[in-house]
Amino acid sequence: MNIFVLMKRTFDTEEKIVINNGAVSEDGAEFIINPYDEYAIEEAIQVRDKHGGEITVVTVGNEEAEKELRTALAMGCDKAVLINIEDDVEESDQYTTAKILAEYLKDKNPDLILAGNVAIDGGSGQVGPRVAELLGIPYVTTITKLDIDGSKVTVVRDVEGDEEIIETSLPLLVTAQQGLNEPRYPSLPGIMKAKKKPLEELELDDLDLEEDDVEAKTKTIEIFLPPKKEAGKILQGELVDQVKELVSLLHTEAKVV
Ligand SMILES: Cc1cc2nc3c(=O)[nH]c(=O)nc-3n(C[C@H](O)[C@H](O)[C@H](O)COP(=O)(O)OP(=O)(O)OC[C@H]3O[C@@H](n4cnc5c(N)ncnc54)[C@H](O)[C@@H]3O)c2cc1C
Repeated sequence: MNIFVLMKRTFDTEEKIVINNGAVSEDGAEFIINPYDEYAIEEAIQVRDKHGGEITVVTVGNEEAEKELRTALAMGCDKAVLINIEDDVEESDQYTTAKILAEYLKDKNPDLILAGNVAIDGGSGQVGPRVAELLGIPYVTTITKLDIDGSKVTVVRDVEGDEEIIETSLPLLVTAQQGLNEPRYPSLPGIMKAKKKPLEELELDDLDLEEDDVEAKTKTIEIFLPPKKEAGKILQGELVDQVKELVSLLHTEAKVV
């Protein structure tokens, strides 16, 4: 089976994020594999181990992403591809990323493409479905279970706490939801092996793309942190008085009634 994982290098949102000149400051920021992409990688490994084949992990980014690609190789992916857009693309959006990924994938005959449900930084959840649309293949989002039997595929997807069971077929793109599996940590032998696994670096030219072909369709006007939470207020006294005070505060302070 020819398996591809779309992997994004993201800020670690567990760490303190600093905004500078309308963008997240990279100084001192920690970077990780987007957590939903770890589920995608783990699922790809389990599918490959059961059905055979090869996993290629692909990222669109800059050379800093080599570290996360090596981690994916250490987890068990077979090959990595970095599509380095740093010198060619000034402004990128979900269209840019999806177009580049689809151009890379279009002649690779993928059977299964796994992406994350959402990137924890950009957070649009667009890239996976856009890639599938561009390739003209079916896609199922937020999956929590994947069963492949020949070319028949049964998928369970999370629908805000409920489950939806979908039958579809290969070739297919799925996006991984939390609960799909328990991603493994790279083992020491895995880390040693990863150093020798192929990591190919491509640029737009190699995909016969010009900067104009991938020009962003959207522009981010502003990025800002949410306002600091004020300390809560605990009302005291008789219940009936508390209710009166609450209604009054909702009217005069919160201005919601
Ligand atoms: C070098 C670089 C420059 C950028 N410059 C700008 C800029 O100037 N302005 C701006 O607004 N944004 C910029 N971005 C951000 C970028 O446009 C978006 O982050 C990207 O389109 C993904 O959108 P998202 O975060 O909403 O991902 P989602 O759609 O939420 O991601 C869902 C899934 O899609 C896959 N995926 C997402 N991104 C990638 C990727 N890069 N490679 C492989 N798989 C991926 C992953 O599987 C991920 O889990 C830049 C990104 C890069 C890498």
